[in-house]
Amino acid sequence: MPLFSREKDKHDGFTLIIGCGRLGGSLATALSDSGLGVAVIDMNKDATRKLPASYGGITVIGDATDPSLLAEAGIEEADAVVAVTNNDNVNIMAALMAKEMFHKETVVARLYDPDRECVYREFGINTVCPTVLSSKAIAGMLGLDLSGGEKS
Ligand code: AMP
Repeated sequence: MPLFSREKDKHDGFTLIIGCGRLGGSLATALSDSGLGVAVIDMNKDATRKLPASYGGITVIGDATDPSLLAEAGIEEADAVVAVTNNDNVNIMAALMAKEMFHKETVVARLYDPDRECVYREFGINTVCPTVLSSKAIAGMLGLDLSGGEKS
């Protein structure tokens, strides 16, 4: 059974994943296994070599802060851009280029430092923060509610 499926009314483009480490690689594999279009960029050739033989997407090697590399990976045709390198500065730079230079509507970035979330929000970039997600999950396992009254 596919792990992901795109909403019917969305056109059939692909997802560009920046950073093909543990997170980017597993997302790329899941999308590809679900029959969805995907391209990955990583500066480290060895990272992309860890993709399974079944991976049917595009692979581009290089520094994702270079706009010409983003173009080479086909960002202009991408439906969504996901910046999940292990460097918050790279993720924000790539996400900003996707938004401002290539006018991508759907951009998601991982950020390790939750204090910088406001910078991303200002530019309309969705963020996933492992620190916040993990602390909420652990608090839940401990039977605590750390939401501080915030509505979800
Ligand atoms: P992980 O922390 O396992 O999810 O891996 C993060 C990945 O991001 C690694 O494979 C890095 O090589 C990659 N990465 C870090 N900086 C860049 C960059 N500037 N351009 C492309 N890939 C990067």
